[in-house]
Amino acid sequence: MLGHDLPEELDQFLAAREDELIAFRRDLHAHPEPGLAEHRTTRVVAERLAAAGLDPVVLPGGTGLLADIAAAENLYPERTVVALRADLDALPMDDEKDVPYRSAYPGACHACGHDVHTTVVLGAGLFLAEQARAGLLPGPVRLIFQPDEEGSTGAKDVIAAGGLASVGRVFAVHCDPRLDVGKLGIRSGAITAACDHIKVRVRGPGGHTARPHLTADVVYALGKVVTELPAALSRRVDPRSSLSLVWGRISAGSAANAIPDEGIAEGTVRCLDNEAWAAAPALIDELVRSVAGAYGATVELDYCRNVPATVNEEASAAMFATGAESVLGQDGVMPTQQSLGAEDFAYYLDCVPGALARLGTRPPGGADADLHQPSFDVDERAIGIGVRVMVATALTALWHGAAAPEPPAHGSLAGAAEGER
Ligand SMILES: [Zn+2]
Ligand SMILES: [Zn+2]
Repeated sequence: MLGHDLPEELDQFLAAREDELIAFRRDLHAHPEPGLAEHRTTRVVAERLAAAGLDPVVLPGGTGLLADIAAAENLYPERTVVALRADLDALPMDDEKDVPYRSAYPGACHACGHDVHTTVVLGAGLFLAEQARAGLLPGPVRLIFQPDEEGSTGAKDVIAAGGLASVGRVFAVHCDPRLDVGKLGIRSGAITAACDHIKVRVRGPGGHTARPHLTADVVYALGKVVTELPAALSRRVDPRSSLSLVWGRISAGSAANAIPDEGIAEGTVRCLDNEAWAAAPALIDELVRSVAGAYGATVELDYCRNVPATVNEEASAAMFATGAESVLGQDGVMPTQQSLGAEDFAYYLDCVPGALARLGTRPPGGADADLHQPSFDVDERAIGIGVRVMVATALTALWHGAAAPEPPAHGSLAGAAEGER
């Protein structure tokens, strides 16, 4: 079990380091870099880890890094590595806040809180490295700082570079601006949704609107696709999977009296359940063809796989709750809902067990805000809270997770995702 003095040790560590960590986060916030351009971010994280005596390794793509913290020598050789994951990338949008640490780069903003995640995992790593030096770390820990979460390529790059080798469990937190600072939201099972992009192109010969029977009326056919496809899906897919197709763009034609020869509709497919997600491309292709085919139009479906749902393993979610309770108290941990948002952390959980939790960042009594807003900011006490939670969760997993279960047998989903990208 966790050392009874862990909360006290964390208090001492943060009394000495919290100001430095907040300054580190503000520096990242002022210098945000979008996916795969996180060169400065990678460098400053690597420098801080090296200054703590760690030996970070930059990923082959030049951004993102891994750092291992070795356990007290041969103390528990059977223990697998516990990984803590952060993401480095910012969003391509302007920062509209009026704060001293506002983005110095036009068109880039840490509006998803990845600067906070990076600082939390860094802080947890610094604490665990001190524990290792004191001969107190009961098993090995890997810090994963991945690039490009928003573009959904970073987790796959980490896995391809061997970032999950010897890892038994992986944990991450994501900022939640609807949850008060000091709270952690956790659930077992799916916590984020799968999200794909689709583009439907309907084609026909085109012609005069006086004689639609001599053409394939692609505008009419496209209208049918747009309205009938979501309806048909609602009858062909288990409603519990909450598969939802929503169109975001539609375009066809240029004149009131001419039937065009092409029309396009684009949208997203979101889904709470990975089985329905796996079946979605073939089903949507079948439905699109049958609807458009009835009007003599030909149809092309461009189905672009994005990420699967993030499915928290039950034991890992319980470790998050146990670890967080030990440092935040029982009131600090609460159940959270599955969202229709997407997170590329899902790819790690296709390979090893683990869990993603929501880290409260709302100032108490503050208004609800959302991620991806140009005014997004956090109550910075969330950084110290995040460090406490990640450290306690990693130690809980090391003490209790020696015999991690076999990886879940749904690696096929990752394969499908790559094949159809
Ligand atoms: Zn985001
Ligand atoms: Zn995010």
